Amino acid sequence: MPLYEYICIDCRTQFDALRSISDADAPIACQDCQGENTSRMLSLFYAHSDGRAVTQSASACGSCATHTCSTCGVN
Ligand SMILES: [Zn+2]
Repeated sequence: MPLYEYICIDCRTQFDALRSISDADAPIACQDCQGENTSRMLSLFYAHSDGRAVTQSASACGSCATHTCSTCGVN
């Protein structure tokens, strides 16, 4: 299974999780505060193909700058 990176919107904790591809964007609880207000971060592989330095961003959204669209998983 691929390793995905997530960040907790509430406490800003970043953590990794091994999940199946179909579960990549499913809700996952923060490993620190157990909250489910988390967002998947883009991998460096995708960051490179997108031409953006995702390491500067805490958001998983690669298609908007507001961090509040459905792609972000944050509403
Ligand atoms: Zn948290």
